[in-house]
Amino acid sequence: MDVKRKLEILADAAKYDASCASSGTEKRDSRDGKGVGSTDAGMGICHSYAPDGRCISLLKILLTNACNYDCLYCVNRASSNVTRARFTVDEVVQLTLDFYRRNYIEGLFLSSGIIRSADYTMEQVVAVARKLREEHHFRGYIHLKTIPEADDVLITEAGKHADRLSINIEVPEEDSLAKLAPEKNVRAIRRTMGRLRLKLDEAREGRKPTPRGKVGPRFAPAGQSTQMIVGADSANDSTIIRTSANLYGSYNLKRIYYSAFSPIPDASRSLPLRAPPLIREHRLYQADWLMRFYGFEADEIVDDADGMLSLDMDPKLAWALRNRERFPLDVNSASREDLLRVPGFGAKAVQRIIETRRISSIRVGDLARLHIPRNKALPFIVLPDHRPAVNLLDGANLAERFKPKATQLGLGF
Ligand code: SF4
Repeated sequence: MDVKRKLEILADAAKYDASCASSGTEKRDSRDGKGVGSTDAGMGICHSYAPDGRCISLLKILLTNACNYDCLYCVNRASSNVTRARFTVDEVVQLTLDFYRRNYIEGLFLSSGIIRSADYTMEQVVAVARKLREEHHFRGYIHLKTIPEADDVLITEAGKHADRLSINIEVPEEDSLAKLAPEKNVRAIRRTMGRLRLKLDEAREGRKPTPRGKVGPRFAPAGQSTQMIVGADSANDSTIIRTSANLYGSYNLKRIYYSAFSPIPDASRSLPLRAPPLIREHRLYQADWLMRFYGFEADEIVDDADGMLSLDMDPKLAWALRNRERFPLDVNSASREDLLRVPGFGAKAVQRIIETRRISSIRVGDLARLHIPRNKALPFIVLPDHRPAVNLLDGANLAERFKPKATQLGLGF
């Protein structure tokens, strides 16, 4: 099989992995005339979008789509009837360099099915990164998928060469993982995430400059991330968000990626026949941001009534509507923490508000300049020239104002 055909198969097989962003690594470049590539701010990995809206990288590939495991949700599982292919280490290295030199990509995202053993597979994945860095002085971004059962020495070696490492937690609940991916072991996954955290903390500590200027060894400067599949099991949004909060807290993850389950050919009967709406994935990302940047706790984001995020409105607006007694808020005197909870107020807008109000009072006319959507924010705030009508904030109609207008389905004539 030629390399082009392998690339078709192994890039397609990798598209289900959502964790392909390249943020947060150290700066490197080759302007000194040595090496190839850079991780300059703003460059990142080139992305494109699959027809189903999923973000994919131009060189996001598997080393092989052959796999000993039989995870029911995965198109590459051992029992799947797909064409198999396998790159050699040298082929991936050459492809990365060729694509990089042609400006197609900014880096490599490499994962693999598990062949022979976890250690053997991890050795191959690490060999690609080592060769790129040590023989070709490649300075672009490298993200390696880590196999939880692999030997610690291999994981340390992976962190030496990669910018980011990731281990997929796969599904939010232990029981579902046992049912859907019987060979995977949630304890091994969490143990390896814990080990990565320790290595990352040690590396961060060791790389603080000392008076002698010595720095410790490098280890995955862009940190670790994980991915959760949404909609392959019965876990509701509340469970997913609580699992995320636990993962962020326990392992100091940089990112959790939420990937809406895609039905696969010849799927097991244990899996749903349909994909969840993509908007559910989007709402989970919004909820994730509320936890990471807006000071929300996992427990307050989802309405306990059904444990699901509203698909009709963003989770901050839904929270505000459930907690109307906390509004209206005086924009010119409220704390940063309270401002971050106002619908339509982004983190940057809150910063601008705090800077602006030191000099002058903020009025309705200032909202546009602060990039705040008036219609969304006005029912919840007080300004010198605005106070929402008493019956607006308490009225049953307020939620309806924010829901998308119902549209009649096309009848085809
Ligand atoms: S380990 Fe599971 S999820 Fe990963 S490639 Fe193999 S079957 Fe797919």
